[in-house]
Amino acid sequence: MRVTIISNQSEKSKQVSKSLEDLLQEEGVVIDGLAPDIVISVGGDGTLLSAFHRYAHILDQVRFIGVHTGHLGFYTDWREFNLADLVDQIKNDKQEAEEYPLLDVRISYQNGQEAKHYLALNESILKLMDKTLVCDLFIRDEFFERFRGDGLCVSTPTGSTGYNKSVGGAVLHPSLEALQITEIASLNNRVFRTLSSPIVISPNEWITLKPINTSSITLMVDQLVSEEENVAEVKLKIAKERVSFARYDHTHFWDRVENAFLGVKKQNASDLD
Ligand code: NAP
Repeated sequence: MRVTIISNQSEKSKQVSKSLEDLLQEEGVVIDGLAPDIVISVGGDGTLLSAFHRYAHILDQVRFIGVHTGHLGFYTDWREFNLADLVDQIKNDKQEAEEYPLLDVRISYQNGQEAKHYLALNESILKLMDKTLVCDLFIRDEFFERFRGDGLCVSTPTGSTGYNKSVGGAVLHPSLEALQITEIASLNNRVFRTLSSPIVISPNEWITLKPINTSSITLMVDQLVSEEENVAEVKLKIAKERVSFARYDHTHFWDRVENAFLGVKKQNASDLD
């Protein structure tokens, strides 16, 4: 078993990483950053996103584990006080994994430049910073609507609790094979009209976004921000690649949602009176 640890810059995360590395080595686990079987991120969901992008080229070989050093996250459900238990589970690993869908993003250009391709764990966002974005939205290559507003967000089920939720998207269970499109400040009046609600599409559908009033857009893919010129279109679909998590001691998804957004679970409903 080969393991690597990716930590954020906080002193606490660095200390937890060091303790974890020592425990793993004591148990004969090899620390290998080049070809790991397991990637452990220590920090928050943002740290796990960085770890994902660092190892996105070997997704078929790695499983991820998130240790959080702050609050319980969506990708991080181990705490620093169960490190010995985590090491024990890694030693007795049975190769079990939970797999979730990823977003495939492909940008093609007007000037014949080679198309660019990205994988997103959370979402991809198309934005225009200095004026209203006018953008045609196609589903399965069929025209759906002309969007006017700040931008559009397309998220994975695991990303649905991130940016998507802040712009009014629904929280999706991560086992669903689906993508969600949410509007960012759409212009809606008697002249301009969009659906004005999130859309969830199925695995055999894809979305195409064609900017109309500009070819210079800001494209975000998780933490990456890219200023793109001469953009013809952006195609978004569920990727053929998937992300695997070694969730030995799994926190139920809806418990994580409750914990992150509502607070400590009430003993019973009467506490809410
Ligand atoms: P950041 O701006 O430093 O932090 C954004 C926050 O989003 C952090 O609290 C992070 O959790 C949390 N987060 C990340 N992925 C999440 C998920 N799948 N479900 C729920 N919360 C999540 O950015 P970052 O840490 O580099 O992460 C980039 C991600 O942050 C983006 O992909 C986007 O989803 C999200 N984001 C959200 C907003 C917003 O809601 N307005 C704005 C910017 C970015 P931790 O504290 O555990 O790291």
